[in-house]
Amino acid sequence: MALTTAPTCQHEIEPNRRCGSPALRRMRYCYFHQRAHRRNARIVAEQARQRWFESVNTNDPKAVQRALAEVIRRLGSGSVRHSKAGAILQQLQDASARLRAAAVASPEC
Ligand SMILES: [Zn+2]
Repeated sequence: MALTTAPTCQHEIEPNRRCGSPALRRMRYCYFHQRAHRRNARIVAEQARQRWFESVNTNDPKAVQRALAEVIRRLGSGSVRHSKAGAILQQLQDASARLRAAAVASPEC
C-alpha cells in the first residue's frame, strides 16, 4: 500500500523552517497562513493606494487641480482615510498658495 503525502504549508517561519501544516487544496499555505498572506497583501495594496499622492507634481497647477479632484473622488468612495485626505489637502493648499504667489511675482502677460 503506497502512502501519499499531502502538500504542506510553504510559509517560512524562520530561515529553512517551514510551517509544515497541511496546505489547503491547490494552495501553498495552510488555512492560517493563507489568511495571513491575504491580509498582508491587502495591507500592502492599501498602503500603495495611500501613497499615490507622493507622485503628484506640486509645481504644476493642473496636477494640483487633478490631485484635488482625486482626493474628493477618493473621499466620496471611502478609499482614503479622512486623516490622510486632510494631510494631502493641506499639502495641496500649500502648493496652490505657493503657485499663486509665484504667478503674482512673475506675471506672464
Ligand atoms: Zn502554515
